[in-house]
Amino acid sequence: MSHQHIEQLRRLDADHHLHPFTDNAALAKKGTRILTRGEGVYVYDQDGHKLLDAFAGLWCVNLGYGRRELAEAASKQMNELAYYNSFFQCTTEPTVRLAAKLAELAPGALNHVFFAGSGSEANDTILRLVRHYWAVQGRPEKFIFIGRQNGYHGSTVAGASLGGMGAMHKQGGLPIPGIEHIAAPYWFGEGGELSAEEFGRQRALALEAKILELGAENVAAFIAEPIQGAAGVIIPPDSYWPEINRICKQYQVLLIADEVICGFGRTGQWFGSQTFGIEPDLMAVAKGLTSGYLPLGAVLISDPVAEVLAGQGGELAHGYTYSGHPVCCAVALESLRILQDERIVERCADDTGPYLAERWRALGEHPLVGEARICGMVGALELVPRKPSRAFFADRGRVGGLCRDIALEEGLILRATWDAMLLSPPLVISRSEIDELAEKTWRALDRTEKAIA
Ligand code: PLP
Repeated sequence: MSHQHIEQLRRLDADHHLHPFTDNAALAKKGTRILTRGEGVYVYDQDGHKLLDAFAGLWCVNLGYGRRELAEAASKQMNELAYYNSFFQCTTEPTVRLAAKLAELAPGALNHVFFAGSGSEANDTILRLVRHYWAVQGRPEKFIFIGRQNGYHGSTVAGASLGGMGAMHKQGGLPIPGIEHIAAPYWFGEGGELSAEEFGRQRALALEAKILELGAENVAAFIAEPIQGAAGVIIPPDSYWPEINRICKQYQVLLIADEVICGFGRTGQWFGSQTFGIEPDLMAVAKGLTSGYLPLGAVLISDPVAEVLAGQGGELAHGYTYSGHPVCCAVALESLRILQDERIVERCADDTGPYLAERWRALGEHPLVGEARICGMVGALELVPRKPSRAFFADRGRVGGLCRDIALEEGLILRATWDAMLLSPPLVISRSEIDELAEKTWRALDRTEKAIA
């Protein structure tokens, strides 16, 4: 892109485009980065800089950039039938085939699918389906959802309310009524002197305490990410999820796994629920479902819940224009076919995942890194002022932001949540690209350490 071209786009962007999760006034002064092209694990910016995308776009481009098969699947479906809805006792072939495919892939009895346009819409759908599920069984008072502090379930009104992000609640008068939050199993930040296992158990028991405080007869569901992504890739201790399973069963509280990040191979198995032994009644998926090539979300619903909804529920007064969009579903089917045919999830589990884990954990040796954690293809580095203390920097977030910016200068895209550097590369990343990722991260850490000395 010529200098003039870039400047024109930046001016138009500043004048007309509000960016999500962005200080738009500051960005208007600085000028946006414009991505122009992608190939494999790399993207290119307006100046032709090649960047290793260790964040897979936004935890979603699991197959990497530039897969022609996905573009061809979209083009074929657009030419055949670009759109039809699933409202008026109708549907399309890719929609049906994708529902069946998801039922085949999903663990347990999650055999029914409701399509949405995104992860946020999937979680909005879950809120309505679950409250309806209890109401039609004559238990409308079973209404309250419990989520977690710093959980992320999207940006719609229900999604942001279910999530536990304080900054989001401050805008728009959230959360909506009937939503409560408990603390997360964030051992590094909050575990103190407890062993990770003991801490994980205690944080699970916080759910039981909350249910008892509210009255189990009033609690509809507990929603959580298998690994809490946006909060900083919080990988729960092994003691956490088995206890959560037990509590939800004991008190007849539906368990909802938000697998928008973890689904489709990210944790080394098809679903995070399999990695952690979670037994969800409903599951939200999006992102990796189409590898980010088109927007699509879905709610997977277990047989017993679907039987109530379909059997006693009457007309389902819920749906989106783009529920089951045929082009998005065709791309999702192709994306899942590639994952299966190329054995990408298995490769992550047996080969590139363990290799990435080895290289990532070695970054824990760096003086700035208090913990290097990873599960499958998702991880974090906690930057700290003094090892081995787990205390945070006083001005939380500054060093993480600095390290992210330096990494970018090194040609590497990482994300920072406060002072945790987050990793979520395309699942197709090769061993040599993992080497490059690790070397660039080490250099970024070195330069960050010097810059704050
Ligand atoms: N749930 C989780 C766990 C997420 O990480 C996200 C997005 O990052 C969402 C839901 C929301 O998905 P979307 O941005 O597609 O609405």
